[in-house]
Amino acid sequence: MRIGVQLPNGLKRRAFEICDKLGSDVILSGESCFGACDVDLNLLADVDVLYHYAHTKIVKLGNVIYVPYFIDFDLEKVAESVRKIPEREIALISTAQFCHKLFELKKMLQNFGFEVELKKGGDRVEYPGQVLGCNYSVLRDSKAKAVVFIGDGLFHAIGASFYSGKKVYAVNPRNFELIETDSSDFLRTRAIQVSKCVGLDKVGMIVSTKPGQKRLSLAENLKKKAIERGFKVLIVYMGDITPEKLMNLPFDFYVNTACPRITYDDYKRFEKPIISPNEFEYLLKLREDLGLDEIE
Ligand code: SF4
Repeated sequence: MRIGVQLPNGLKRRAFEICDKLGSDVILSGESCFGACDVDLNLLADVDVLYHYAHTKIVKLGNVIYVPYFIDFDLEKVAESVRKIPEREIALISTAQFCHKLFELKKMLQNFGFEVELKKGGDRVEYPGQVLGCNYSVLRDSKAKAVVFIGDGLFHAIGASFYSGKKVYAVNPRNFELIETDSSDFLRTRAIQVSKCVGLDKVGMIVSTKPGQKRLSLAENLKKKAIERGFKVLIVYMGDITPEKLMNLPFDFYVNTACPRITYDDYKRFEKPIISPNEFEYLLKLREDLGLDEIE
């Protein structure tokens, strides 16, 4: 049986260790693997089974097995950090690598007198409390006064703050640092990016070829509305979206219907403005706020 293996960047260096355990007929994917949205379909076509590591299932594809990868952390120290926040009604959220300890953390915090919400979001996520850079559905209708994100970096915490309108604290489970996040810079940056597109009319509507990021009907719908308003629009298909790939294209700006992190996290890498579908609707005067791009 031929086995395919797909690893995120953080695990690629351990490829021998992981692949050797699976036998001798193993092929490692050299493509990007940013999430479970990013299944290597070319490799899948040539193997009997594809092991996709460290992400939870998004797309139901036969012969793909999602292998979890959990990172251990010191619960007591994380709970002590959370204890410093003033709000007592909180929602716990995290990314797939740290979600396995949220139930235990919830119990500890309840013993400290917190009311803790730990819900599961929509179909795109698997664990209670889990968020993705493209999905904060776990916070929909949240009754909590504040949100506590357990994880690395501030991207998800800022996204959660923008999505929910609540105060969001981030606790890093590696060094136990507690940070109160603020999404006002994020909003300012997005408003600047959108303002750069005013008066421009040649639009590249990016559609991802990755199975869990492909939003062709959204792109077609936006294209139709934009053409009715005098824009010139072409839909552009691509896998990884890089500055080199956009370099020779004739557009004034891009609407990215692929992974929202490209719009929000990577926009500085691109020479031309790159905005989300919601932001394009705002530009077309079809909505009154910039919104947060979410994939259901
Ligand atoms: S679309 Fe982007 S944010 Fe969503 S799962 Fe894929 S890589 Fe993560």
